[in-house]
Amino acid sequence: MPEFFDRRYGVDSFSLFLLAVSAFILGIHYMWIVSLVLIVAVVVRAFSRDTVARTGERRRFSRFAHSVGYGFYRVGKWLYTLFRPVVLGIKNAIQRAAQKRKQVLFSCPYCEAKLRLPRGRGKLAVTCPVCHQSFIKTT
Ligand SMILES: [Zn+2]
Repeated sequence: MPEFFDRRYGVDSFSLFLLAVSAFILGIHYMWIVSLVLIVAVVVRAFSRDTVARTGERRRFSRFAHSVGYGFYRVGKWLYTLFRPVVLGIKNAIQRAAQKRKQVLFSCPYCEAKLRLPRGRGKLAVTCPVCHQSFIKTT
């Protein structure tokens, strides 16, 4: 039967896309009918000898896929600029919290000014920047 398979169009990216869609919707109620139609379309296209028409379909699909892809890219970029301040804000808050954990907060024994020192440095000679009194603080 070599003649039967002669000059048949075969399977292209559009057919693969249709197969993927049919597999995807197969599980949805009553959509197996659409699934079946898509599979039939794939088979008909594969055995078609009208390669000009089939190539045209593939080109239109390719153009459509590219515009959809570009649309996703644009939406992604837009969402990125929209949510960038929020993401940066969260990032900063996390960094500030991490910084806080590395510091000891305490009050100056002379003037009650709020001071901070790095955690875990042992005994430190501190001069209060507000009242300029010196004292020893264990961190
Ligand atoms: Zn002080």
